[in-house]
Amino acid sequence: MDEFDIRIGPTEAVRLAQRIPEWLQQPHRAVGAPDNQPVLVAITEEALLSACRHAESSLDEIGGVLVGHAYQWGERTVVEVCAALRGDSMTTGRAHATFTVDTWAGLKLQQEQLFPDQMIVGWYHSHPRMGIFLSGMDLEIHEGFFSSSWHIALVLNGQGHRCGFFIWKDERIVPAPGFYCLDALDKQPRLSLQQARRNFTYAEVGDSSAVSVEESSPPEPITNTAQKPEVVSSQHETEASEPPTPPVMQETMRTALIGLFIIVALAWVRYRSRSWTSTR
Ligand SMILES: [Zn+2]
Repeated sequence: MDEFDIRIGPTEAVRLAQRIPEWLQQPHRAVGAPDNQPVLVAITEEALLSACRHAESSLDEIGGVLVGHAYQWGERTVVEVCAALRGDSMTTGRAHATFTVDTWAGLKLQQEQLFPDQMIVGWYHSHPRMGIFLSGMDLEIHEGFFSSSWHIALVLNGQGHRCGFFIWKDERIVPAPGFYCLDALDKQPRLSLQQARRNFTYAEVGDSSAVSVEESSPPEPITNTAQKPEVVSSQHETEASEPPTPPVMQETMRTALIGLFIIVALAWVRYRSRSWTSTR
C-alpha cells in the first residue's frame, strides 16, 4: 500500500460551511432518488460527460479525481462536482487501475492550478465491461484517501454506458440511490440519464447505440459493504480476470447444444433403423 502513501485531501478535518444549493434555482435534473440521503451528490453535465468519455476511451481501467465543492445544507452534506480530472499517467490494466504517487501528485497539482477555489471531493474509475460496484481494493482506496463524509466515488462502465456514485452513510460506503445533474444554462442536455436497477445508464444525446448495449450487459454483483472488503475483493478479481459469460452468450450456447443433441439423436435413430432394416 506504500504506493498510495500520499494525502489527497486536507489532512485535518474540514469544517463545512452552511449554504443553500444555488443550482436549485437553475436547470437541474434529479436522476434516480437523490433525496433523503445524508449526502446529496450533484455533478455538472460537463464533468460527468468528461468522466464517461474517459471510461469509454479504454478497455483498461482508467480513473481520475472529482473536483468541486462540499457544504452543509441543514443536516445534509452537499457534494457538487464541477470537473473530472483525468489521471493520465496512471498504470492501468484490464483488472486494475494503479494510482501511483505521481498520479495523485499530478492530479492534486492540476486541481490547485486549475481550480484553486475548489477541493478534490472524490475520485472516479472505470470498470470496463463490468458491473458498478467497489472492489476490496476500491474500498481500501476510498477508506484510506477519501474518508471524509463528503468524499464520493464514481464508477463507470464505458462499454455498457452505466455509472453509479458511492457515498458515506452511517460510516459505511453505500451506492447513492440517485444524483443531480446540473445542466448548462445555455445548452441543450447532452446526456440522457436513467435509473437502471441499482445504478444508472447514460447516453449521449443522438447516440442510439448506448441503450441496446446496456440491455444485454451482464448483471452486476451486489455492491460493497465497508465491513467486508475481502468478499467484495474476491468478486472483483474473479470478475476482472474471468469476465462472466453474458446471458445472451449462455443462451446461444444452450441452443447450440440442444441442436447438436437433436442432430446426433436423429443420426442415431436413422442408423438404427437402417441397420434394423438391413438385418431383417
Ligand atoms: Zn474498481
